[in-house]
Amino acid sequence: MSTKRDYYEILGLGRNATNDELKANYRKLALKYHPDRNPGDKEAEEKFKEAAEAYEVLRDSQKRSLYDQYGHAGLEGSGFSGFGGFEDIFSSFGDIFEDFFGFGTRRRSRTRAQRGADLRYDLTLNFMDAAFGTETEITVEKMEVCPECNGNRCEAGTSPETCQQCGGMGQVSRNQGFFTVRTTCPVCRGEGQAITHPCPSCRGTGQEVVRKKVSVKIPAGVDNGSRLRLTGEGEPGSYGGPPGDLYVFIYVESHEFFERRDTDIICSVPISFIQAALGDKIMVPTLNGDKELKIPKGTQPGDLLHFHGAGIPSLRTGKRGNQVIQVDIKTPTHLSKKQEALLKEFTKLEAGKLSSKLKNILKGGISEAIG
Ligand SMILES: [Zn+2]
Ligand SMILES: [Zn+2]
Repeated sequence: MSTKRDYYEILGLGRNATNDELKANYRKLALKYHPDRNPGDKEAEEKFKEAAEAYEVLRDSQKRSLYDQYGHAGLEGSGFSGFGGFEDIFSSFGDIFEDFFGFGTRRRSRTRAQRGADLRYDLTLNFMDAAFGTETEITVEKMEVCPECNGNRCEAGTSPETCQQCGGMGQVSRNQGFFTVRTTCPVCRGEGQAITHPCPSCRGTGQEVVRKKVSVKIPAGVDNGSRLRLTGEGEPGSYGGPPGDLYVFIYVESHEFFERRDTDIICSVPISFIQAALGDKIMVPTLNGDKELKIPKGTQPGDLLHFHGAGIPSLRTGKRGNQVIQVDIKTPTHLSKKQEALLKEFTKLEAGKLSSKLKNILKGGISEAIG
C-alpha cells in the first residue's frame, strides 16, 4: 500500500515545472532539511529523503514521463524504490551536493584532514611521587609520520599519479536500472590518486611505528584514576590533520604506613594502655619526616589525633589535607611478677567503680541467671 505524496507537491511545483525550477526548489528543501543542520530530527530526515526521492525521479526525463503517466505505480519494477538512507542519497547526488552546499559530500570527506587517534599509557607511581609530584620519562609505541617520505608515501623522486580507474574522481559509476550509482573507487579507495612507487621505508603507508620517549610532568596530589593529557603526543593525523593526544592514566602504589583518603592520610600508631591513661609524647612518621605527637591523658581506643596540613596537596588548590592518627591501644601480654602485683593493687582501687558499672550493664537479669 502506497501512501506516498505526489512528487510535484513535495517540491511545491506544478506538472509543467522546468528542470531549473525543480532543481531550485529541491535545493531549498535539501538545505532546510539537511541532516547536518537537523541532527537527530526524524521528521527533517523523512522530509530530506522525500525531497531527494522526488527530485531523483523528476530530474530524469524517462522516469518523469513514467510518473506523469502512471504515478508511483509507473516506477514500480523500474528498480527504483526510494532511498534507504543518507549514504544512498549522497552517493546518488554527489555532484549536486557539492554544487549546492559548497562542501564535499560525506563520501568525499574520507580524504579530508583527519585528526590522529588518542593514545593511552598506564603509569604506576609510588606513594611519595604521587603526593609531591615528579617528572618521569615514559616510552610510548606509536605511529609517526615516515621520515623517509615525510608521509607522502612515495619513493624519493616519484609522486602519486592520477588513478586510472576513476580518473582522479575517487568514485566510479555503475548503471543500475534507470539511474547511475556511484561508489568509492576500489583501486584508490576514494583518494583519486594511486601510488606506483611506494616508499620502501614505510611500504607506502606514510607512517611507521616508533618507540618514542616522552617526558611527563606529574603534578603533586595525583591519585588513582587521575588522567593527564599530553596534547599532540598521540598518533599523527592523516591528510594534514592534527595529531591526537596522549592520555596518561595514573595508578598509585600503596604505602606500608600511610593510607590515603582524598587529601588526608591515615595511619595507625600503637601505644600502651599506660600511655593512653597517663598521656605521653611520641614520635610519629609524617610525609616530611618524624614529628612529635602529644597523646592526651585518657585517650580512648578509636580516638583520632591530627597533624593539620600534613596530608597530600590538593591537585586543584595545592592546599594540603591532614594526617589522621588512629591510636591502637595495646594490652600487655607478658607481665613481670612485680607488674602483675601493681596491677592487682590498682584493680583493688578501681574495684568499687568497675563492679557498679558492670552491674548497670548486666541490669541484674543475667547475674541472677548465673546465680
Ligand atoms: Zn615512507
Ligand atoms: Zn580511483
